[in-house]
This record gives sequence, C-alpha cells and structure tokens, in this order.
Amino acid sequence: MILGSHVNFGTEQLLGATKQALSYGANTFMFYTGAPQNTIRKSLDESLTKEAQELMQNNGIDINNVICHAPYIINLANKTKAEAWNFSISFLKQEIKRVEALGVRYIVVHPGNFLQMEVRDALDAIAEALNYILSPSDSVMILLETMAGKGTECGRNMAEVKYILDHVTLKDKVGVCLDTCHLNDSGVDIADFDNYLNDFDKLIGIAKIKCIHLNDSKNPCGSHKDRHENIGLGTIGFANLLHVLDHEKLKDVPKILETPYVGEYAPYKYEIAMLKSKEFNPHLLEDIQSNK
Ligand code: FE
Ligand code: FE
Ligand code: ZN
Repeated sequence: MILGSHVNFGTEQLLGATKQALSYGANTFMFYTGAPQNTIRKSLDESLTKEAQELMQNNGIDINNVICHAPYIINLANKTKAEAWNFSISFLKQEIKRVEALGVRYIVVHPGNFLQMEVRDALDAIAEALNYILSPSDSVMILLETMAGKGTECGRNMAEVKYILDHVTLKDKVGVCLDTCHLNDSGVDIADFDNYLNDFDKLIGIAKIKCIHLNDSKNPCGSHKDRHENIGLGTIGFANLLHVLDHEKLKDVPKILETPYVGEYAPYKYEIAMLKSKEFNPHLLEDIQSNK
C-alpha cells in the first residue's frame, strides 16, 4: 500500500517533510509549499531538495507518489473578480514551477467556489483558467479534488468534475483526487464505494484517479459540511476506509491522511500503524494523546 499523510514543509522544506513522513512510518506524503491559507512563499533551497530526494530514495519513498496541495484561498471559478482570478492563475503557474523544481509530479487543487455566479459559468471559468495555467512542457499534473459541496464549492459531484475535465485542452495534464470525507459529505455512500467507482469509471475513467485523501467524516452522508474525523471514529468507519485503501483497482494510487490533530498531537503514526495492521484500534485516541 502507498500510504502517508499531510506533513509540514517548514524551514527544512522538502527535507523536513520527508523526515516527518518517515517518522510516521509512511511511504509517501503530501505538503503545502507554505501556509495552506495564504500565498506567501519562500524561495526553494536546492540543497535541501537534493538531500530530501536522497533521503526518500534511501528509505523507500518513491517521489512519484508524493503530492503537493495548492493553497485553498485561490479561486479559479470567480472570473467576475478579474484581478483575483488572474492572481489565482499566475500563482498556480508559479506553484507548478516550484513543484517541478522539487521533482514532485502532482498538485491537488480545489476546483473553486461559484459564489454568486451560475454554476455553469463557474465551471467554464475553471476550465478556462486551467487552459491558461497548463502548458505542454509541464511535468506536473493538476489533480482536481472532489469537494463536499459546502457553501458554493464546485466539484461536489462527478458531473461537475467531468465537465471541467472535458473543457480542458491538455487532458493528460489534469487528473482527479478523491477525498473520502468530501465524497461522504457530498452524498456518496462509502459503504457502496464499488458502485461509485464503477460509475466513475464509466463517466471519467479510473485511470484519472491519481490521489486519494483517506479521511473519516464527523457528519452523515450528504451533510455538505467537510469536517474530517480520525480514521474509524467517524460516520464512514474503519472497514469502509480500509476497503478504499486496499482496493485492487486503486493499489497504485497514493492514499493521504488529512485527519485532525488530537490536541497538539499528530495522529498519523498511529493511524498508519492501525491501517497497516488492518484492525481497528479501540484505544486510538488514548495512544495518540499519550504520544508513545
Ligand atoms: Fe483539499
Ligand atoms: Fe482533501
Ligand atoms: Zn476537507
């Protein structure tokens, strides 16, 4: 299995992220190149990148499975605010260059928020923005994340994701990231994941799925909330998440945990160990809190 979690980029950049992933027993990871909620970015330190790549190689992390996540304040949908839309486009262009310089292949992007716009116009604006951002020489693929449908989020169902993909010119530069919490909250029953996957295959194609965010959810199916829960402690449950993780058709797809901290403690080491053992740990929260 290819399993990791969200980690911090921090002052040691990709090297710090790699060290953190290894401390969790992970063989992949996902990072933001700075704070998720802003677009302030420090320049990359090439020697740290090289050291990180060596550390990955020596410890069984294939950099092709490592994922970057774009900050969530950019909005590719809102073309009515030209300045902000143009900023989102140029920021993502630069971010792709940064990701390329790190040797990473994938960047996850939230499609955008339609706000006061017609949904169709928003989806057109997202595709148009992607057509400005992508160029044939890019080695990085943008992964559109499936969203919970909280507020005015685009990408809250398969049809919206397909619409965007259909309107992108460089089709081999765009893929999809499934988020199990978002799917649940958008109305997909993860207990019936095979059915969803079959529908996805017919409409979009399984090969487009390049990353899975493996999260439990605090809220019932269809709640449109987007609040992640620790593995096995939410409404999706351990067995259903294990089924996604172990799925034969998705075995080459990296799975990334974005579950919440418990107090000040990261849960990832414990959740990864539990998922590897394939057995629910009823003492998960205590183990995380004792940080042993
Ligand atoms: Fe996300
Ligand atoms: Fe996610
Ligand atoms: Zn989320």
